Amino acid sequence: MQSDYAIIGGGVVGLSVAWGLLKRGFTVTVIDGDDGSFRASRGNFGLVWVQSKGMNQPRYASWSQQSAEAWRGFSDELTDNTGHDLGLEQKGGYDLHFSEETLEATVAKYEKLKIELGGDYPYEVLGHNALRKEEPEIGPKVVGAILHHQDGHANPLKLLKALADDVRRMGGTVLNGKHVKSVQRNGVFRIYCNDGTEIEAGKTVLSAGLGATKLGPSMGFKAPIRPQRGQVLITEKLPKILNRPSLIARQVDEGGIQIGATNEEVGLDDRVTTHGMAKLAAEAIAAFPVLEKVQLVRSWSALRILSPDGLPIYQESSEMLGAYLITCHSGITLAAAHAHLLPDWLEKTGQAPNLEVFSEDRF
Ligand SMILES: Cc1cc2nc3c(=O)[nH]c(=O)nc-3n(C[C@H](O)[C@H](O)[C@H](O)COP(=O)(O)OP(=O)(O)OC[C@H]3O[C@@H](n4cnc5c(N)ncnc54)[C@H](O)[C@@H]3O)c2cc1C
Repeated sequence: MQSDYAIIGGGVVGLSVAWGLLKRGFTVTVIDGDDGSFRASRGNFGLVWVQSKGMNQPRYASWSQQSAEAWRGFSDELTDNTGHDLGLEQKGGYDLHFSEETLEATVAKYEKLKIELGGDYPYEVLGHNALRKEEPEIGPKVVGAILHHQDGHANPLKLLKALADDVRRMGGTVLNGKHVKSVQRNGVFRIYCNDGTEIEAGKTVLSAGLGATKLGPSMGFKAPIRPQRGQVLITEKLPKILNRPSLIARQVDEGGIQIGATNEEVGLDDRVTTHGMAKLAAEAIAAFPVLEKVQLVRSWSALRILSPDGLPIYQESSEMLGAYLITCHSGITLAAAHAHLLPDWLEKTGQAPNLEVFSEDRF
């Protein structure tokens, strides 16, 4: 049977796009690899985050803002449809600073971006005492924070589960444990998997995360993406001690404090290291000394999917019209935009968002 769309890669990016397409009435088949694949969607930090995005490209900041704004409705709809509470909180988030110099330098960059965004960049600077009122556990080494009111966080695993469930509920097909080895276009797309499965589709979205480096060039994409390792820690469940998330730590909906993440250029190595964990723990304790006495229960690492400038890539193949590459560094943040707005871009409707700056031509 032929679907309107085949989506290669069933991480948060592929499933968000699939969900949006199904809501518009298209038929969709999602083909996803196995547990041997690198899967950023299962190992990330769960921030729905605006601040610090797009310092050199305001369109990325506004795209992140559009998604953050759409997240509440997106989350509510998924919860209504599937019963999974995604744990979304959007009451702001912090960029914590240990020196006045870095705080001032960041504020200067935010002021410039705010002007470029026509003033829509709602943040405030909290000195240590003001921050302590919001976060009583903050340590003396933290000089202050930028509180950005559009920031928040969610439970990324519940997001993934809700998307997969709802895609199936709406009639989408999700094929797990299938590795796409080649894609051909001859009128329709024919997608060939390692186990002999063949899928036909009118259009194809390549959202295979790091898997796009292999498949992308054969489909006419540059796919210039690289892995970057992020190690993450999580503590035992605790009573509520952190009011808002930060780039250093957040209290997840289930009570644990998630600490992360490292940024390491180590290729496809997704192991955790003592050095990485110690660095994360030391920074988190400097920010919130109460964590010194708390038990860690788990650590893991996952590989980010980064383009050379860190911005997303939205590209139609010029060699294989109807094939699209979609990849990004912040798939949790952008999930709502991908679900609500990318179908118009894929279908080239009058409502299509302008994503020109995210084309591969920039590389
Ligand atoms: C440590 C860390 C922290 C992060 N924190 C945040 C955060 O706080 N907020 C945020 O917004 N983002 C965050 N991210 C980024 C976010 O996790 C990613 O942007 C997102 O998960 C990317 O999703 P994806 O679907 O593109 O890729 P993936 O989740 O990697 O999924 C790709 C899928 O494609 C499949 N696949 C690959 N090759 C093939 C093939 N040939 N055939 C079939 N299937 C294939 C794989 O099996 C896999 O399931 C973080 C990432 C990391 C690593």
